Amino acid sequence: MTTDVNYLRARLPSVDKLLNNAALTDLLDLHGHNCVRDATRDLLAELRTAVGEGDGSAAALLLSDDLTEELCLRVRRRFSARSNTALRPVFNLTGTVIHTNLGRSALPQEAINALLTAASGPVNLEFDLDTGRRGERDAHLESLLCELTGAEAATVVNNNAAAVLLVLQALAPGKEVILSRGELVEVGGSFRIPDVMQSAGCVLREIGTSNRTHLRDYANAINPQTGLLMRVHTSNYVIQGFTTRVADSELAALAHAHDLPLVNDLGSGTLVDMSRFGLAREPTVAESLAAGADVVTFSGDKLLGGPQAGIIVGSRVLIDRIRSHPLKRALRVDKFTIAALTEVLRLYQDPQRLAQRLPVLRDLTRPLVDIQNCAQRMLPVFASHLGNLARVSVRPCRSQIGSGALPLNTLDSVALAIEPLAESAGDVELQRLALALRRLPVPIVGRIRDGAILLDLRCLRDEKELARQLKELSL
Ligand SMILES: *Cc1c(COP(=O)(O)O)cnc(C)c1O
Repeated sequence: MTTDVNYLRARLPSVDKLLNNAALTDLLDLHGHNCVRDATRDLLAELRTAVGEGDGSAAALLLSDDLTEELCLRVRRRFSARSNTALRPVFNLTGTVIHTNLGRSALPQEAINALLTAASGPVNLEFDLDTGRRGERDAHLESLLCELTGAEAATVVNNNAAAVLLVLQALAPGKEVILSRGELVEVGGSFRIPDVMQSAGCVLREIGTSNRTHLRDYANAINPQTGLLMRVHTSNYVIQGFTTRVADSELAALAHAHDLPLVNDLGSGTLVDMSRFGLAREPTVAESLAAGADVVTFSGDKLLGGPQAGIIVGSRVLIDRIRSHPLKRALRVDKFTIAALTEVLRLYQDPQRLAQRLPVLRDLTRPLVDIQNCAQRMLPVFASHLGNLARVSVRPCRSQIGSGALPLNTLDSVALAIEPLAESAGDVELQRLALALRRLPVPIVGRIRDGAILLDLRCLRDEKELARQLKELSL
């Protein structure tokens, strides 16, 4: 047995010999010598161990005539598997337009161009071209944000979770923050308001009940330890029925009478009234400020349709305090965010054309008949590739906006429904088909509902590419 193992191991070529094989030349060019050498070394070591452990398939490989060829192939495969771990484009046919796990919003072309410029070389990120001195990175966005929201001042951080953390830590360290029990929100990804308060070093002072909070509840809670009054948008849920909610203006008046700031975390936050696009009405950032909020925070990449960012707008005095807090330095945005967000905000200066130019809004307002036509074109394509295994049909469905924005405002849409023919295999077959779609070079991601894979076509733009992908389907 021992001789066998030694014999088998002796058949393995050396690392150098394998690296000199022509089949690996392009890999060496692409990934560099060290990287390919290490992968080759790992592969040979694994095979050496495997034959030692009596692995039959490893032994068979080492005895085969085209051993070298097969080894080269396996090295190559390691690199193609490796490139699978990077961010890859996917088809979002989940029916959730702003899908956090799929990177939320696609950016408008103007923003993509600006990203390329910022990535390609030096830019005046913190450099004042008039004076030749150090500039302020927020300056690029501040005037636009003030123009669009009516705020006196604005600053931007990494995301809205960071914005809330920073605002609390800068404005109410060690102090009580008064918040209605109806607004104790948990946003996906373990962002829970009580935990954020705690990590910001604030003491959460819950008031009222889940469904009803009155102005007197706020008034009774105010004491010398109070740091600020807070309002959090209940992004991903709605409390309906017997409810009472204090108006922003009343709450602001109460806060100001006690010399306290009112902070409003709007979550998704919109700059224009979405009802003009047929979506549910939400208070805009400007309205919230006009009602008396001193600081408003919102996301750059939810309904706004821009890059990941947390936007903080409000009074000059408070924004200055927030901006000069040491945590701001840790949470500041990079040149890419500033480049892309500026371009997205510029589109908002022309709301008339926004729905054509901003991809998120284009998807959210896509006419139903357009999606239906798309489904009719894609149906035969899917049927021809899946015909033997599954029944493909066109089915009405509802898209979600996503990211907790407007949770009740689902949109009429159309899906392709893929149902496996092998009924006995049921769920296993369904999962297998869904996996095959996700394993395509450009993965297709849908959702599974009632024994079918649903591919909501609302966000499908490149039908040709989708058809091309299906040719690669291996089942
Ligand atoms: C989504 C959301 C956040 C977090 O925003 P991110 O940009 O995802 O960090 C915070 N507060 C509310 C109310 C939200 O809806």
